[in-house]
Amino acid sequence: MTFASRHIGPDAEAQTQMLKAIGYASLEALMDAAIPEVIRWHGELKLPGAASEEETIAELREIAGRNTVATSMIGLGYYGTFTPAVIRRNVLENPAWYTAYTPYQPEISQGRLEALLNFQTMVTDLTGLTTANASMLDEGTAVAEAMTLARRSSKSKSNVYVVDADTLPQTLAVLRTRAEPLGLELQLVDLDAGDTLPEEFFGLHLQYPGASGAVRDHAALVEAAHGKGALVTVAADLLALTLLRAPGEIGADIAAGTTQRFGVPLGFGGPHAGYLAVRAGLERSLPGRLVGVSKDADGAPAYRLALQTREQHIRRERATSNICTAQVLLAVMASMYAVYHGPAGLREIAKRVHDRALAVAGGLSAAGVEVAHDAFFDTVTAVVPGRAAGIVEAAAGDGINLRLVDADQVSVACDETTTTAHVEAVLSAFGAAPAAAAESGTRPLARTTDYLTHPVFSAHHSETAMLRYLRKLSDRDYALDRGMIPLGSCTMKLNATTEMEPVTWAEFANIHPYAPASQTTGYEALVAQLEGWLAEITGYDAVSVQPNAGSQGELAGLLAIRGYHRSRGETHRDVCLIPSSAHGTNAASAVMAGMRVVVVACDDNGNVDLSDLAAKIEKHADALAAIMVTYPSTHGVYEKGIADLCGAVHDAGGQVYVDGANLNALVGFAKPGKFGADVSHLNLHKTFCIPHGGGGPGVGPVAVRAHLAEFLPGDPLEPGDHHAVSAAAHGSAGILPISWAYLRMMGPDGLAAATGVAVLAANYVAARLRDHYPVLYAGNEGLVAHECILDLRPLTKATGVSVDDVAKRLIDYGFHAPTMSFPVAGTLMVEPTESEDLAELDRFCDAMIAIKGEIDRVAAGEWPKDDNPLHNAPHTASSVTADEWEHAYPRSLAGFPAGVDRTSKYWPPVRRIDGAYGDRNLVCSCPSPEAFED
Ligand SMILES: *Cc1c(COP(=O)(O)O)cnc(C)c1O
Repeated sequence: MTFASRHIGPDAEAQTQMLKAIGYASLEALMDAAIPEVIRWHGELKLPGAASEEETIAELREIAGRNTVATSMIGLGYYGTFTPAVIRRNVLENPAWYTAYTPYQPEISQGRLEALLNFQTMVTDLTGLTTANASMLDEGTAVAEAMTLARRSSKSKSNVYVVDADTLPQTLAVLRTRAEPLGLELQLVDLDAGDTLPEEFFGLHLQYPGASGAVRDHAALVEAAHGKGALVTVAADLLALTLLRAPGEIGADIAAGTTQRFGVPLGFGGPHAGYLAVRAGLERSLPGRLVGVSKDADGAPAYRLALQTREQHIRRERATSNICTAQVLLAVMASMYAVYHGPAGLREIAKRVHDRALAVAGGLSAAGVEVAHDAFFDTVTAVVPGRAAGIVEAAAGDGINLRLVDADQVSVACDETTTTAHVEAVLSAFGAAPAAAAESGTRPLARTTDYLTHPVFSAHHSETAMLRYLRKLSDRDYALDRGMIPLGSCTMKLNATTEMEPVTWAEFANIHPYAPASQTTGYEALVAQLEGWLAEITGYDAVSVQPNAGSQGELAGLLAIRGYHRSRGETHRDVCLIPSSAHGTNAASAVMAGMRVVVVACDDNGNVDLSDLAAKIEKHADALAAIMVTYPSTHGVYEKGIADLCGAVHDAGGQVYVDGANLNALVGFAKPGKFGADVSHLNLHKTFCIPHGGGGPGVGPVAVRAHLAEFLPGDPLEPGDHHAVSAAAHGSAGILPISWAYLRMMGPDGLAAATGVAVLAANYVAARLRDHYPVLYAGNEGLVAHECILDLRPLTKATGVSVDDVAKRLIDYGFHAPTMSFPVAGTLMVEPTESEDLAELDRFCDAMIAIKGEIDRVAAGEWPKDDNPLHNAPHTASSVTADEWEHAYPRSLAGFPAGVDRTSKYWPPVRRIDGAYGDRNLVCSCPSPEAFED
């Protein structure tokens, strides 16, 4: 069998049956009817023909072999680390964790929510702050979010953000990108050189330890900044914080950084979980997802996402940030590293790292080499006038990468994997020898407070206990390894095992993002090939994989548009038109790119209202920068008006941004770069098989036509005109082999077939459910694209049964609910994808029809409105086996509704969760064990 026939669920016979059900003779006939001819592209993608799984692995082995796995002691926020094997195999390589969706349905996500609560607790404990979110995309973007958080929260009128000169260079690059469009002014101060703080500023950024390795006492600076009404962010290394005084203890308002060295492989830059934590009083300004404790219908403690009204889904252009997909899988890994090692284990690791650094410094001093700082944690900067390049070269000869700071300085960063042999090799590169380790002397900033005191960080230190804890948590969750997740707009398709395998190979996993180019030729080749294939698929001229989520691709694309207008002297163009149906990230990204959002209405058929568009274009003609439209639309329809829309915006001097999240409906059949768009982002974690990881990682490449190519993101370490939207040149490079493998194994025919079957599956589901639930929008010949919206509003009005009730009842039937109330409140959006076979599609449709039958019984008055299987869903094993059962319907119907396999039933661990209660009583770190006692 070909890989395509493994990836695509329905076989030829099933496809015939499905086509018959919707009245088409062939996939081609269906696609001809569904896709408007104005956008249709007729041709064969110029991609290599499909390779088998075995051939693909062999090719990837060869590419990986071109990378050199050296010992990287470069530092700058990226460190060697040992991923505990029990975590690698049972989290990173385990589909129960990596195929899960973002925990918007908390009742079926308690496992990963607990892991994320552990993550938040780990971050708040170590930083000494009160509330941490459930991950950021990397350190650079986390620090940028801290800057805008400070701007929102500071009372200072100043637009000056002060940044210490010893900040990581890539962080500075991302800060520059983010500050400029918002009119914020970065002021670099060299605190060591005696620079003083400016008169007025709204925020101060400090690195702790600094990029040079120096550990400085920031207490007086924090006080001085507070005196000006400014907020202080400390970008802190969490491992260092096991030994050093925490930022929160000196009054820092915000801490930001990365958790990479907590067991997450380097991956040439990512994916890794960034973190962001704040002091009390700032939690409502925090960007990103936040896990909190609430209670279920029985009053039992239960976890769910807290304070969601801050997020772009609801606040749109007034959101705290555009972040959507974050780094959940990596946050889970980092939190489990802390759970596995515990506070004493982490401290021991940190001490060992520090001892190695002391040994380096001691050897250098004994040999008369000047060490730049007395106080350091893991990184030693040596002052070697004129000799730096030679020393770095000598170390490279021993397989060790050091950091060439400049012609006169070399930095040596130690980590968990550094051995005494490494230390000797480093010293010999300097012409020095090991010496009796100099005493660290006094440690003025030694930590005196406890951390990770919650029992979860002490209970799982044996491998047996850890294995069982991971299994217990993943068993609470519903992921693609249990059944379909028909989430509209999210494309929860197969994440094939062959695609995943290369991710943990050392030649991909253990490469430092700033390793010398000679060591990364395999990665460069893979990136260039993947970018080329994505350009061919989308019809654009250039692609950058740097953005590490769709939201970041949006920002990068809008910044390209901004750069283009400015290059032509049209700096006044700042209006971004966005249809009312758009994803929340669109509006939030536009604001971050310095644009004003103007909403365009949709007509009764869900299409962009072309007359309102014309009116808005006319009104803002001189100021028009761009339009952002999703295609096919978020309503799941191929809009015919798209070509006219592009033309109208271009005529007015604007650029067209097509949000490519729905590319699964286009691959092989239409190319945004050819039907009028100028720029798109793609979501490799949707269309191109990177798993969702429970809410990340993702990759959001930005693709542009030739005139925008010069405005694509650039290398954060290469100063120049190019902005950087992430801390590493190729963003989350470590997971690019997944999408590469998918494209390599599918080939042009397989990809087109996938698109066809995705559209077929959505139309099949729409056809089967249409008589039970109205399908809200349709295009040509009543066809939908790759997803369909089921309208529950009339039923809700007539019976009181809400979209929530149906979503929760689907859990009892063994399903993850479709997308709820997006893009239309009170509806469900179903995207089955090409990977679900006919039996699974039918099981879903049967469940939805059976649920409609239950709604009818409520309508008929057979069951009370407040006591029926929908209202009380989901049902736990505990609730249906309770000694008392006083409901109007039988236990068997509650727990084993029609079609449920009694031998392999998924039982949710909690009943329906009260979200509002948790927001009123905000708890965002691990609750005490007593909270779980009856
Ligand atoms: C998923 C999605 C996004 C955001 O992508 P992330 O990777 O989550 O940042 C933007 N637009 C649409 C239409 C989407 O479905």
